[in-house]
Amino acid sequence: MAWKIAQSPKCDQLYIAPGNAGTSSVATNVNIGVTDFEALASLCLDKQIEMIIVGPEAPLVEGITDFFNASSDLRHIKVIGPDKTGAQLEGSKDFSKDFMNKYDIPTAQSKTFTKSTLAEGLDYLRNQSLPIVLKADGLAAGKGVVIAQSLEEAQSTLTDMLENALFGEASSKVLIEDFLTGIELSVFVLTDGKGGYVILPEAKDYKRIGEGDTGPNTGGMGAISPVSFADETFMNNVERLVIKPTINGLISEGIDFVGFLFIGLMNDNGHPHVIEYNVRMGDPETEAVIPRVKNDLVEIFEAAANGTLSQQKIAIDKRIATTVMMVSEGYPGSYKKGRTISGLEVSTQSLVFHAGTSSNENKVLTNGGRVIAVTTLDKDLKSALEKTYATVSDIKWEGVNFRTDIGQDLLKLDN
Ligand code: AMP
Repeated sequence: MAWKIAQSPKCDQLYIAPGNAGTSSVATNVNIGVTDFEALASLCLDKQIEMIIVGPEAPLVEGITDFFNASSDLRHIKVIGPDKTGAQLEGSKDFSKDFMNKYDIPTAQSKTFTKSTLAEGLDYLRNQSLPIVLKADGLAAGKGVVIAQSLEEAQSTLTDMLENALFGEASSKVLIEDFLTGIELSVFVLTDGKGGYVILPEAKDYKRIGEGDTGPNTGGMGAISPVSFADETFMNNVERLVIKPTINGLISEGIDFVGFLFIGLMNDNGHPHVIEYNVRMGDPETEAVIPRVKNDLVEIFEAAANGTLSQQKIAIDKRIATTVMMVSEGYPGSYKKGRTISGLEVSTQSLVFHAGTSSNENKVLTNGGRVIAVTTLDKDLKSALEKTYATVSDIKWEGVNFRTDIGQDLLKLDN
């Protein structure tokens, strides 16, 4: 996002809080935490910042937009990201499920239980077909969903979530949800809160750590955009059945939603079902989607903030973007930081985006689980993947890990 914003002639100065070794090459990093609203406000006033683009969900759920709107000194600063109520679409799965049911947005049927209704929940599970999905209501860093294959597993997981706080406060409420079949994809919409919106390119991500979608979930190991099965008919269905009712629902609820809606969907034979909403872009989907957007991103954000998005047209690069995430050995479990990364400057054919990196003198070091995302745009999926993996093989550190099968399922589908 920083890489793209920095290209805009409308952007004189770009600050990233807290940033990494990559963002420092296109912007000025400031060492402020994303939920330290007071420090962010001081920075904005000091540097005369005119717009804030909120990347992650935590500051939105904690009310950064409300904080800036509540102060007469800060109100003039445009914030791209919904207020606290709008952020509940991501912050509470119970809230988002009620919202979808109220506005007839297709989604899996579900029922919510708490500690005091645990016995009813255990009983309810007895009459459900398997597999069955259990979801912690609150934010759990993408880990709060368990797909149980047996009644015993479902019942013990429900007990662990509600009684033993398996996901902390996030699992004080649990949704028991029908299992959806089909292929997943993500659709991204930017809305201006007044009914105007633009649809960005869709993407497919790869959540599991292991080849062939095995092992534990991660923040994401790769992404592909566009997704071949999301043809015009399917995307028209998504717009008619999901996007429009969502935007109209937000307006009916009086929610002034200026920002990104990330819609996780299951495509069941052409029928879209919503798995989840996020209220921001995702990572690594952003690294595959944003390079395909030809527009000036700041101009689009201005239109979102001013309520004039319906006058904007999105121009999309027709090429395919493939993104492979390079991670630390041990991730998503415990891993070592501080390893020196080499080969970052070699590639001319790919874009190299940083995630968990830091810099020390002239060295770039690993500083997180997911470290580097490599994206290549090319005319077809196969050659984009070949170039991405060629760049990946040039970038090295001790204990680097990545999936070698990103996009292989789509290649098979296409053939
Ligand atoms: P969520 O955090 O809601 O996106 O769920 C994480 C992952 O769990 C999703 O990306 C899906 O792969 C899977 N999942 C969630 N809900 C369902 C469902 N109702 N049926 C099948 N898979 C699901």
